[in-house]
Amino acid sequence: MVILAAVIAPLGRQLQRRLAGRILWHQQHQLQQQLARRCSLTACSSRYALSQLHPMWQEPLAVPGGDRQSPIDISVRKSLFDPQLKPLVVKYDPRTCQQIWNNGYSFLVEYDDTTDKSTLHGGPLDDQFRLCQFHFHWGENNAWGSEHTVDHLLYPAELHLVHWNSDKYSLFEEAVMEDNGLAVIGVFLKVGKRHEGLQKLVDALPAVRHKDSVVEFTRFDPACLLPESRDNYWTYSGSLTTPPLTEAVTWIIMKQPIEVSHDQLAVFRSLLFTSAEEEVQKSMVNNFRVQQPLKGRTVRSSFIPFLQNAPPDGPK
Ligand SMILES: [Zn+2]
Repeated sequence: MVILAAVIAPLGRQLQRRLAGRILWHQQHQLQQQLARRCSLTACSSRYALSQLHPMWQEPLAVPGGDRQSPIDISVRKSLFDPQLKPLVVKYDPRTCQQIWNNGYSFLVEYDDTTDKSTLHGGPLDDQFRLCQFHFHWGENNAWGSEHTVDHLLYPAELHLVHWNSDKYSLFEEAVMEDNGLAVIGVFLKVGKRHEGLQKLVDALPAVRHKDSVVEFTRFDPACLLPESRDNYWTYSGSLTTPPLTEAVTWIIMKQPIEVSHDQLAVFRSLLFTSAEEEVQKSMVNNFRVQQPLKGRTVRSSFIPFLQNAPPDGPK
């Protein structure tokens, strides 16, 4: 990875991401073989089969290690309450929102991260982290779609707000290769009433229906996508769930899901993995990674898990 970092460092940021993705996609399959574990749930089996269809997961990927990969199942009973965990502090400036990019696997809402205008600190973090993008993972129906699960419960979608450590590093591309480089907030989506804050984004999505399309998107405050109760979360050390799969991530998974309507998720599903030129168009669905073994890691909670057997806000 050091060599890869040196090769791509001089390139422009978006090009870097695409190049890194292209190199690593071709090496993905091997790692998947190493790290994937069988899940006893029928839904997991079908999720595994479905996720293999995307080109990103069809080729081997050379990533060293593999002891702290993501996503995982969060066992409420086994998570450890840590009274030292502080409330999260998010300071997002909607003016740093720049564009939406269909990268062929999800859509990324990208933020200007050249200054500390949109930041995250507190919680399990000792440093300040800068928001660079957020994206979602979702299923072809409402029965599955999230990457993380809580006591094996699947949500129809999961939001990831990706931040990098601006105290220790000067670029996302540097932080993504390093320990303690990234902090990702995960928020589960469940189907219910329409999410008014999300609707502005949903309305813009038809413009990025095809892979590689980009549209300007401004003045969007991602704080509106966080649940009301932001102090209750789980945290653990893990990895990116897309190439380069580096084990640089402090995960912060919110306990309370947000509600979105079936119609809003339907717009996510109307996007395409494929570019306009491709003959066979493929719907952008099931864009999640299979779950990974915990390998002795501890999941800490910021709250006392008094309900041991099920999360109180499970999917409908
Ligand atoms: Zn993600």
